[in-house]
Amino acid sequence: MFGSVSPRYAPLTTDTVVDYVRSRPELRTIFYDRDVIEAVEVGDGNLNLVFKVWAQDDPQRTIVLKQALPYVRLVGDSWPLPTDRARIEAQALEIHGRLVPQHTPKVYFFDPEMYLTAMQNLNDHLIMRKGLVQGVTYPHFANHIGLFLARTLGSTSDLVLDYRTKKLEVARFINPELCKITEDLIFVEPYRQHERNRYHPEIEPQVLALQADVALHAEVADLKEKFMTQAQSLLHGDLHTGSIMVNQRETYVIDPEFAFYGPMGFDIGAVIGNLLLSYASHEVRTKDPTQRAAFRRYLTDTIVQLWRVFVREFQPVWDAVDPIDMPPAYQQAYMRRVLQDTAGFGACKMMRRIIGLAGVEDIRGIEDVTDKSIAASLSLNMAVALVKGRHQITRIEELVDIATGCRPTYPWTG
Ligand code: ADP
Ligand code: MG
Repeated sequence: MFGSVSPRYAPLTTDTVVDYVRSRPELRTIFYDRDVIEAVEVGDGNLNLVFKVWAQDDPQRTIVLKQALPYVRLVGDSWPLPTDRARIEAQALEIHGRLVPQHTPKVYFFDPEMYLTAMQNLNDHLIMRKGLVQGVTYPHFANHIGLFLARTLGSTSDLVLDYRTKKLEVARFINPELCKITEDLIFVEPYRQHERNRYHPEIEPQVLALQADVALHAEVADLKEKFMTQAQSLLHGDLHTGSIMVNQRETYVIDPEFAFYGPMGFDIGAVIGNLLLSYASHEVRTKDPTQRAAFRRYLTDTIVQLWRVFVREFQPVWDAVDPIDMPPAYQQAYMRRVLQDTAGFGACKMMRRIIGLAGVEDIRGIEDVTDKSIAASLSLNMAVALVKGRHQITRIEELVDIATGCRPTYPWTG
């Protein structure tokens, strides 16, 4: 265990959560004494309890309570996990709420003894991954997430924070155990035989070839080092399409419990890598070629547009720096490095979703094994091409071209 849990800590249940809600003065403006309060546990995540709570006669008066468990829910209490991640998540949400309130659920309070955050219930929004699996497009997503990335990554970097605040913020967001999960699950286990890996047997030949690719290992080691040592910005740390809730008008980012100071490209790459997994999945999920092409066009346009918005919204940061310290050539090289990191980290995120412990619905949810193997094979080919090709990328279109130029190698032709 990581330290002892607070003596006041008890995991809530749908019964105890109602009394808890009634006991919180911060919620008096939402729930009244006369209310019948209802609650349901909805956590589909791997790590925490998530309750939706509402007033029976007015379901619009509703909140979400997210409570950390002291172990990995997916695996059980044999895999302990520090409850301090609840503090990290609450503090990251506070920063996001200040920088991009329109994309951050409102936080009512954080309870440091229950490791619990009370926040806005995004009841009109859907986990983006579920929408993408259905082939739903979100026309404003690229603009929204591009802005989210520019603001959260730019404003927490050394380009904006003063020297002392930056170091204190790095210290406040030290998150060793959750970073270690990333280091193992994203940068180590997929590239070797490991008991936690979960790929399906049909794609084993391609997995074994990837695991024997020493040049790939060197690239991944390089990215792992960057992840572990470059305290560039406050990252969300787990910005896949399952941490984004959307509808046709709005975009919200949830679940920053993996937040820490790391390389910007890790967050941008998480978004892009997951859009590319969706791209690969529709190789088989959308049978009609015209429909498939249209949805894929949406995905690639989204990738290009979100990067353009990121660069555009980052410009005020550059406009405010000293041009003698940081001349235009440096600024351009910086953004190019972020783009190349984005390609590399995005690719690692794709490989871990095919080979490693935690898969994604987009691919692992494909029922037909041949179809699933085709989508998985394409995902791995895209990822390997991106990791190895990233040093030559200077424009976002080149990243997209590398990925979309790949084909599945399954079924094997021998
Ligand atoms: P975990 O960290 O355990 O993965 P998440 O923060 O991802 O937990 O939440 C798990 C699920 O709970 C999400 O996939 C989503 O369906 C739901 N959820 C979480 N936060 C909210 C919210 N603010 N509003 C509505 N639903 C939410
Ligand atoms: Mg989580």
